[in-house]
Amino acid sequence: MAKSIAEDFDPSGLSSAGPPIFVRKVSRRRHWRGEDGMTLDERIHHAAAEVFTNDDGRVSVFKVENADDFYRVAIGLNSGRGSLKEQLEILGITPGDIEASGLALEQTPGDTDCLHANARHYDIIHDDAAIERLVRRLVDQGRLDHRYKKQMERAAQSALAIGCRATESTLPQCQCEI
Ligand SMILES: [Zn+2]
Repeated sequence: MAKSIAEDFDPSGLSSAGPPIFVRKVSRRRHWRGEDGMTLDERIHHAAAEVFTNDDGRVSVFKVENADDFYRVAIGLNSGRGSLKEQLEILGITPGDIEASGLALEQTPGDTDCLHANARHYDIIHDDAAIERLVRRLVDQGRLDHRYKKQMERAAQSALAIGCRATESTLPQCQCEI
């Protein structure tokens, strides 16, 4: 039976702490989960480098409060790729995780094609030691990335239905911002 956007993109699926949750795109599942034979420390170093890449001192995340936020962020993340329906891997991070790790957050404009997503964009200020504390905390808790595949087809349909700019880059604004 087909699921709804509300079920597919329930942010509570990322962490039992529930929303708000900061979402981070994971390019490949093994970036977060590591390779066979890695020790715990190796996995943590690897995940810190691969998933929390230091991009000019910043790490891009989006804050989602509900399923509407989450599917629009997912579409925004895919707006720079070949298709809005591409499979997406997402890691969820709670405000408590960030605070406990000693990381600082700053709200900044996102650069996706969806303005609703862009309004929910934050930078984690990169700090090697604090990023490692964050990764260790998430690994200790058994936090896993989640794969969105079939769900992206429904997200793309919903984005089209509401006139999201990610579905048509010539639109002057994103209707889902309203
Ligand atoms: Zn949009």
